[in-house]
Parts: sequence; structure tokens; C-alpha cells
Amino acid sequence: MTIQPNSIEGRDRAYHLHSYTNAKALERDGALAIERGEGIYVYDASGKRYIEGMAGLWSVAVGFGEQRLVEAARRQLETLPYYHTFSARTHGPAVDLAEKLIRMAPVPMSKAYFTNSGSEANDTAIKMIWYRSNALGKPEKKKIISRIKGYHGVTLASASLTGLPNNHRSFDLPLPGIFHTNCPHFRAFAQEGEDEAAFVARCAADLEALIEREGAETIAAFIGEPVMGAGGVIVPPAGYWQAIQAVLKKHDILLIADEVICGFGRTGEMFGTTTMGLEPDIITVSKQLSSSYQPISALLINDRVYQPIAEESGRIGTFGHGYTGSGHPVAAAVALENLAIIEERNLLGNVQALAPLFQSRFKALESHPLAIEARGIGLIGALELAPREGFATGQLGPKLAAVMQENGLFSRAIGDSLALCPPLIITEQQVGAMFDIFEASLDQFQAQLKVA
Ligand code: PMP
Repeated sequence: MTIQPNSIEGRDRAYHLHSYTNAKALERDGALAIERGEGIYVYDASGKRYIEGMAGLWSVAVGFGEQRLVEAARRQLETLPYYHTFSARTHGPAVDLAEKLIRMAPVPMSKAYFTNSGSEANDTAIKMIWYRSNALGKPEKKKIISRIKGYHGVTLASASLTGLPNNHRSFDLPLPGIFHTNCPHFRAFAQEGEDEAAFVARCAADLEALIEREGAETIAAFIGEPVMGAGGVIVPPAGYWQAIQAVLKKHDILLIADEVICGFGRTGEMFGTTTMGLEPDIITVSKQLSSSYQPISALLINDRVYQPIAEESGRIGTFGHGYTGSGHPVAAAVALENLAIIEERNLLGNVQALAPLFQSRFKALESHPLAIEARGIGLIGALELAPREGFATGQLGPKLAAVMQENGLFSRAIGDSLALCPPLIITEQQVGAMFDIFEASLDQFQAQLKVA
């Protein structure tokens, strides 16, 4: 299809550098312009409808076109469109949201701190931890451990935490002082003859070996997603988090739970922390916090983190950190209304009711000749394609995603895994329709591969 210079695609190609896109391929093929959304659906500029099987970027919990969020934003824009929280100023929406989050927290938390993206939240977590170590008179305790295939964002520090090659290659990352330990993906990383229990024990032993090699007194924190999302939807085996946390406790290392995807219902509980039995000192949230109708994220910190920070800021004279948009009133008002919708419509109940169907449809696809493994929990899952002669690793996934898109379903290709993470408002009938397209697309793709 030729792209007209004055069309949205033409002007996009002329003026816009895209995130996570091959810029050269975009110059050739152009982008797909999305015009509007309604419920679980989005529509492109030609009017074609797609099931948004990824809820945008794992985030639009309440679906598209939610008028209550539009109204909440409008009301706030009319009363106080902007204010900040620097220098001891505050405003209602930031206070209301901080109180709401502390009351919702899955483990006792002391304070909420606001940021604008998941990356900023995780970056801020590192800064808080460094500040805390200095406050405690332990300036050497600064190193952070993350995991291979963990995803924590793209700022200099959060991209360093992320354990994926694309986020490091050609960016001169990771920064020093950030280390990656094992990924808890049993099928991919278990050694010959190892069962789940032995695999879990090895993950914990490898973590401990890393800590001892570096010196426990130099390690400040461990960060992990309760269930890994962007690394391929990886649900850790039973006992994994218990074994990891025992090592962290023994060596006085803080735990940061990155709940940016899991938070607010994705796993069938309000937080993945509860689903997986975590006891974090810091929780970072974003995405479903506002259903991404506004950019907002937050850190919830416990007293172990808050008290030394408060002491240090008292000594220095200020906590020298903050964003112009921290606790933005419009974003906070939208987040509050969004959380009210999640509770009033019992979207947690919807996830619990539909998870068995969602997961069993994934599991059924595992026996497809092209597939090797289905993974997931709650309303998040992925199907991994088997390696195939003539295709490099990571080549098949995007090709199948393109077939699915043609058939009216957006999924996300993570290498050769196809992820689904639909809006939490999805119905039983819509789950069925989504998987019918997935299944038909797999068959169609298989036929294409045979011909090729
Ligand atoms: N943490 C996790 C677990 C995420 O999935 C993401 C985004 N996919 C981030 C952090 C980064 O969030 P953002 O893109 O808002 O910076």
C-alpha cells in the first residue's frame, strides 16, 4: 500500500520516531494509526475493529471509552488543572490517592510517593534505597540485584534493572552496581533431570552465591515482578518466592515488588504480592492504576524505608527529589475514579470467574503443532511457539502476531511467545471470540509455513 505524504501515516513517517520500533522498517512500511476505542475494542483509521488483547500496554483495565474517567478528568481540570507537591504544598487528589493506596496495600506500608511512569517509579526506588543506605551510615550498601528477563523500564537505572538484551545493546548499559540473577522460567532454564523443587533450590543458591561473591554488606535490594510480564509472561514455580525471600532476609536485603503489570487485579488478587506470597519493602505501581488514561505511577514504601529517608532529609534539609508531574491532580483524580470502578464493578471477581476459561483456552493451544508451551495466571498468559528449522529464534512470533492482527486481534510477540493481557472488563463471550481468532490464526500460519 502506498503511503500518501499528507495522510496520518505519511506525516507520522516524516516527523515521528517511535518507541520499540525498527525505524528503518517504519520508513518502508509506515505505522498503523488507531483512531478510537470502545470497551475491549480499538478501531484503526479505516474503521477496522480489533480486540485489544493486550489492553494497550498491559494497562487499560476498565476498557476504552470509559466516560466516568473522562468526567473525573474534566472535573479536576476545571477546579485545579495543575499543582505540585514540592516545598510542603499539597492538594486533595494526591492526598486521597495516597490514602487509598496505603489502605489497599497488600502488606503494611507507610507512605505513597508519586511518579509518572513505571520506569520513573523504579528509578526512584533505587534513589530512595541509596539515600537510605547513606542515612543508615552504610554508604557501601548500594548494589541492586534484578533478574534475567525482568522488565523494569527504560530510564538509565530502570533499563539497567531490565534483564533483556534489547534494552542494553548499543545503550552502554547496564550501569555498574546492577546485577542479574536467574530467570525463574522452569521449562527454559531447568537443567537436565532437574525437577521444579531442584530448580527453585538452584535459583536460590545462585542468588546467594552472587550475594556472597559481591559481599552481602554491599547489596541493598532485590527487585522482581511477582509474575514476569514483558519478559514473556513467566509464572515462577511453587516455592520460588519463598526460597528467594529467605536468602534476602538472611542477608538484610530489601525487596522491591514491581507491580506495574500485576497491580490492581491482573493475577486474580488485587496485587501479585498476595498471589505470590511476597513481603516487599517497596511496591511500584502504574498502568492499571489509572487504566493508562493518564500517566501516573507510585511507590508504596514501608517504615524500614521511610524512617531513614525522613531522618536524612531532616539532616540535609530536604529530600532532593521530585517531578513536576508528581501526584498530578488530573492523573490522581482519574486514578481514584479508576480504582473506584475496579471495586464497584468487582473486576477482581470477573478475573477470578474468567481465569479458568482464559487459562484453559491457552492450555488447549499448547497441543497445537506449532506450540511448545502455554503459561499464565489470572487474565495474563502467553503461548510460546516451538523452534522451527529455517527460522531464527524470535522470528516466528512477530509473523504470527501479524496474522492475528490481520484477523482483528492485537497480541504482543515477545520473541516467539504471543502474550494476551486483555482489559479486565472482558466478558466470557469475548474471551471465547479472542481465542477463536488465536486458534484460527495459528492454523492459518501453519498453512502459510507449509506452503513457504
Ligand atoms: N515495570 C514493569 C513490570 C513493566 O511492565 C513496565 C512497562 N511495561 C515498566 C516497569 C515500565 O513502565 P513505563 O513504560 O511506564 O516506564
